[in-house]
Amino acid sequence: MRVRRKPWADEELLTNEQVVQEPTLLKGKWHELFNNDNPIYIEIGSGKGRFITETAKVNPNINYVAIELQISVVAVATKKLRTDPVQNVRFICGDVKYLEDYFNNDEIKRIYINFCDPWPKKRWEKRRLTARNFLGIYKGLLGEVGEIHFKTDNHDLFEFSLNEFADSDWKLGNISLDLHNSAFEGNIMTEYEEKFSSKGMPIYRCEGIVRK
Ligand code: SAH
Repeated sequence: MRVRRKPWADEELLTNEQVVQEPTLLKGKWHELFNNDNPIYIEIGSGKGRFITETAKVNPNINYVAIELQISVVAVATKKLRTDPVQNVRFICGDVKYLEDYFNNDEIKRIYINFCDPWPKKRWEKRRLTARNFLGIYKGLLGEVGEIHFKTDNHDLFEFSLNEFADSDWKLGNISLDLHNSAFEGNIMTEYEEKFSSKGMPIYRCEGIVRK
């Protein structure tokens, strides 16, 4: 997702209380920030934040943390929260590669990955967020039973991901090859999902479940 740099974005990130300025200081202490012991779900590559914000609104007993690389995209997400605050969601402007600096082992219960970059060339395989190298990191951070909920418009990435889950001994559940024409209830659309499905493209979805 490319968004032109917005001059107000830096200031938005520095002044919005729903942006976590020093996520590494919260490693192992996220419950103190939220002031409760509710489970923590994260989304990586959260884009403009519609999915996590809407999901947080309907699940007030879960704490949500969004991680997104691009400053201007995080700023769009958090600006919306100024007029419509949601207590149980926070944003990190950061990189997935630092995930283990942000969270302790067993600190997270679920990870959402929605419409991540497909990195189509074979030599880019390890950059895909569902590649086995990432699945190993996620397993450490997830608790005794952890879940990844994954959606994509990209058939090849979906097939690759199913194989990565299977090869890494994750169980698969709720696999859908056309989410919007399936029996799945309670889907919350992301910005990308709306764009792709409005063009008639099927949305692929699955859940990966890992036990330690
Ligand atoms: N989930 C959103 C956005 C999908 S586009 C939606 O479905 O609408 C993928 C997003 O992942 C982009 O916003 C991109 O900036 C972000 N991203 C890519 N690599 C990342 C990384 N290493 N760490 C954090 N975010 C990343």
